[in-house]
Amino acid sequence: MTEHTLTVAGVAVDTRHWIGGERVASAETFTDVSPIDGSVIGGISRGTEAEAVAAVAAAKAAFPAWAATPRAERARILHAIADGVEKRIEDLAIVETTDNGALLRSHRRGVMPRVAHNFRFFADWLLNLEHGDFETRGHTNHVSWDPAGPSVLITPWNAPLMLSTWKVAPALAAGNTVVLKPAEWTPLTASLLADIAAEAGLPAGVLNIVQGYGSEIGDALTSHPDVRRISFTGSVPTAKRITASVAANLTPLSLELGGKSPLLVFADADLDLAVDLAVEQYDNAGQVCLAATRILVEESVAEEFTRRFTEKAATIVQGDPRDEATDIGPNIHERQLEKIDGFVRRALDAGARAVVGGRRGEGQYYAPTLLTDVAQDSEIVQEEVFGPVLTLQTFTTEEEAVRLANDTRFGLAATLATGDRDRAARVTERLVAGTVWVNCFFVRDLQAPFGGSRHSGVGREGGTWSFDFYCDLKNTVTAPKGWKDH
Ligand code: NAD
Repeated sequence: MTEHTLTVAGVAVDTRHWIGGERVASAETFTDVSPIDGSVIGGISRGTEAEAVAAVAAAKAAFPAWAATPRAERARILHAIADGVEKRIEDLAIVETTDNGALLRSHRRGVMPRVAHNFRFFADWLLNLEHGDFETRGHTNHVSWDPAGPSVLITPWNAPLMLSTWKVAPALAAGNTVVLKPAEWTPLTASLLADIAAEAGLPAGVLNIVQGYGSEIGDALTSHPDVRRISFTGSVPTAKRITASVAANLTPLSLELGGKSPLLVFADADLDLAVDLAVEQYDNAGQVCLAATRILVEESVAEEFTRRFTEKAATIVQGDPRDEATDIGPNIHERQLEKIDGFVRRALDAGARAVVGGRRGEGQYYAPTLLTDVAQDSEIVQEEVFGPVLTLQTFTTEEEAVRLANDTRFGLAATLATGDRDRAARVTERLVAGTVWVNCFFVRDLQAPFGGSRHSGVGREGGTWSFDFYCDLKNTVTAPKGWKDH
């Protein structure tokens, strides 16, 4: 324990950066606050340009040896990191819940086991990564995935370790070295990941972590000429700033951004299932990029749907995310609550009706909200709220349902509730979305491509698509002639 260690729910967390295999402190700190009760967790090193540049230098220095490390050895170390995550699931779960307010039970049983899986999945995929050789007029084509180089990974606060390890695991598996910049509202579990990676034998400098404000150190990271890949998950305005900053170096960029996804409920759907799917959109207090926040219901069942939804929403338990019985915890930050409330106030002023909720709760909680009487071109229908706020609109034809669903600048996901297979196929084909769920939600396999269209992102992550992004693909064409032994 040092003066730089915080004890968070009994778990020791280092508050410094992790650069070149060493803990490095900044002169200043920023204050990390728990959304559960607004209490101060402690001070975290507030990175400056100097630390950002030092982290890239450490990643650059470590790159040649890591890139040359045999695939099997890289995979072994990634599995050892997964073992370390599994050993520390309880610590990671309680620290993450304290830091971002999401449910302890889902961190314990769902999220942290998935974090371990992220490492195992990409380690195993690496071992099978190959594109069979093929011939062109007697010449052999051989495709190889060469490690690209130091990669900057920038992540948000809504699922901190889950989202950062979706990037860290494939980047490391690919043979790249990493500089991870976690969100300033949730810096803690990344620091624990550094401990776990070091214990697993990951060489110094292969994973570096810089804490701090994106507005202060983001540009130093994303505009650095030694950075070969940037993967970003976060908001559209930040994505635009990063896109501008990479232009000078043409650094390849992957963007996973926001959404305003629809849930289409057709009259032929199992209505109870549709209601369950709709209420599920309040999970994580609505702070989910994929959330289907626009519910579109066929008019003939809209009244019944609304009645059952209201009944079900009334059973939601909102409260301390550490309690087993809680369904929805707090929102991340006072600033975020003000933003959410602003959206709802303006919608109500414009004539919307709150069928459920429509106001702030005690402390950092926002009442789960369903708004009707909303216009298609209104702010509440078009903009991402990132809180527990859903809108409900009706349609009368399949044509209208598809038109409303696609009438947004986003294209991350869409969910359908229908009992008709032909309709599901027809509608799915016409939806603009990176993922479509039919009669289900949030089923996610790392083999599948993940990402969004339009303002929801650029590129796809998952399986081979992650390796395509983190590697420089090379095709070697070899002639049959020219060999000395011929
Ligand atoms: P944000 O854009 O404010 O911040 C994300 C990260 O970017 C943080 O680490 C922040 O410090 C950093 N950052 C800020 N300014 C920067 C700059 N100029 N240069 C470099 N980095 C900078 O987003 P947020 O509020 O943390 O996250 C919420 C958003 O993320 C929502 O829009 C949500 O939909 C989206 N999101 C998308 C996905 C997805 O997979 N598509 C997943 C989760 C969240």
